[in-house]
Amino acid sequence: MEKTLSIIKPDGVSRGLIGEVIRRFEKNDIRVIAMKMVWMTKKQAKGFYAVHEKRPFFESLTDFMSSGPAVVMVLEADNAISKNRELMGATNFEEAEEGTIRRDFATDIEKNVVHGSDSPETAAFEISYFFNAFEIAG
Ligand code: GDP
Repeated sequence: MEKTLSIIKPDGVSRGLIGEVIRRFEKNDIRVIAMKMVWMTKKQAKGFYAVHEKRPFFESLTDFMSSGPAVVMVLEADNAISKNRELMGATNFEEAEEGTIRRDFATDIEKNVVHGSDSPETAAFEISYFFNAFEIAG
């Protein structure tokens, strides 16, 4: 079993998509084994997205991620990382497959509803950014 970090971003929370996103995970045999709502500070958002520090969209992205509450979750499944990325769809919703979360709900390249770790290394960093071992079931 593999673990990955998922975030329902502030646009997803404010638009009432928490239930819909979790329903898609559960329908696809992905288990939620830890979950909380967080309102990141600008500094916390910058720390989370530190790999993108040099990108032109870094300021805008970290403003967005600290603009309201988000739901962070640890997901568990066989191949959880790629399975979650498949359900999410491409970063740019216009290029995302039909039926993916981003294709169905994203409104622009930045406000794309969900985040998912993209490798075992980033999953380990991202899970430990939000959760300690006692907060993760299973
Ligand atoms: P992800 O792994 O699919 O989330 O994509 P990336 O790691 O490449 O980018 C992280 C996040 O930055 C994306 O989910 C978007 O919210 C945002 N983002 C990516 N590319 C762009 C861009 O070209 N412009 C803006 N404004 N935001 C972007």
